[in-house]
Amino acid sequence: MTLLPSLPDSAATTRLTVDLAALAANWRLMRDLSGSARCGAAVKADAYGTGADRAAPRLAHEGCRDFFVADATEGARLRPLLPDARIFVLNGIFDASFAETLAHDLVPIVNSPEQAGFWRANAGGRDYALHVDTGMNRLGLTAEQAAAHAAAGGPAPVLLMSHFACADDPGHALNARQIRHFAGVAACFPGVEASLANSAGIRLGPAAHHQLTRPGIALYGGEPVTGVENRMAPVVTAETRVLLVRHAGAGQSVSYGAAHELSRDSRIAVCGVGYADGFHRSASGAGVPLRARVPQGASGAIDGVRVPVIGKITMDLTMFDVTDLPEGAVKPGDWVELMGPTINVEDAARAAGTISYEMLTSLGRRYERHYRD
Ligand SMILES: *Cc1c(COP(=O)(O)O)cnc(C)c1O
Repeated sequence: MTLLPSLPDSAATTRLTVDLAALAANWRLMRDLSGSARCGAAVKADAYGTGADRAAPRLAHEGCRDFFVADATEGARLRPLLPDARIFVLNGIFDASFAETLAHDLVPIVNSPEQAGFWRANAGGRDYALHVDTGMNRLGLTAEQAAAHAAAGGPAPVLLMSHFACADDPGHALNARQIRHFAGVAACFPGVEASLANSAGIRLGPAAHHQLTRPGIALYGGEPVTGVENRMAPVVTAETRVLLVRHAGAGQSVSYGAAHELSRDSRIAVCGVGYADGFHRSASGAGVPLRARVPQGASGAIDGVRVPVIGKITMDLTMFDVTDLPEGAVKPGDWVELMGPTINVEDAARAAGTISYEMLTSLGRRYERHYRD
């Protein structure tokens, strides 16, 4: 077979490389920025798409002891890999998750007075955490409900927590209000550890740190603060393979809807990645009327040189304009970087009109995964 001469053994057309050493370095930076607080890790959504079965044990090896998952099913999967860790369940507790929570020694983060009552009545004094809402209006007891919970006596939570709504925007007035509000609630729970800061919250300084921080996105290489250069080490490299290189003349169009008309004779690398892989259709080179910030769409990179996506991204295929690279420099079987050391995950996200969180968590199942440490 000489059709795809540079193909190695694997037939995959998408490849994901997760750098566990970079993950560990990002965690150490977040730990150091957390001051005297312990640093935990949010590993929900399969550790933001990086693979929780590899990422979480690596973080534990680095010294992380407190892990946050979304639901009991995620926690159950991690328990055998984290025998000594505390695994907190952010989405709390309900009837059908109760048995799994107990069986895997998970710590539910109780989110309402009803959940608190349920745990108290059924869990025989087992550890729980308490979430207080200080401005999200998502999960958590109100400050008044939390004060009533404290006043009612009974076993105290092992952790009191709340969550920032706007920490990515350090100047937002709600940050200071949430910090004040949470400190007031924490005063009702003397001796109970408290946790407020996600990745961006850690950057808000000591008033946000309390005893435990909960970074997520920064560990996986995203910049938590909006509008600044990404200070985190890249963890995820996503690549796709060139399937064929075609020539097309000026005036012809590319992809569905004929939304991209070629202004010059062009060479087009057709690659084996599409929106089914989480390379969002909204990152298309043309034909996305709602995307305002980056009208030209996403780019790939070949040997560090950017090549723009042209036309609409399709389910399994994406076209890149490689006309500016020397003739013959791109051939079937070559790899094109979609995000990684050249295309920052934040830039890839902006080009798709979304955030790095969504880019990472929507990386599809077809990627062939590699881990580097
Ligand atoms: C996801 C999540 C985190 C981590 O947030 P990042 O912004 O990714 O650092 C922390 N706390 C809660 C409650 C979360 O849901």
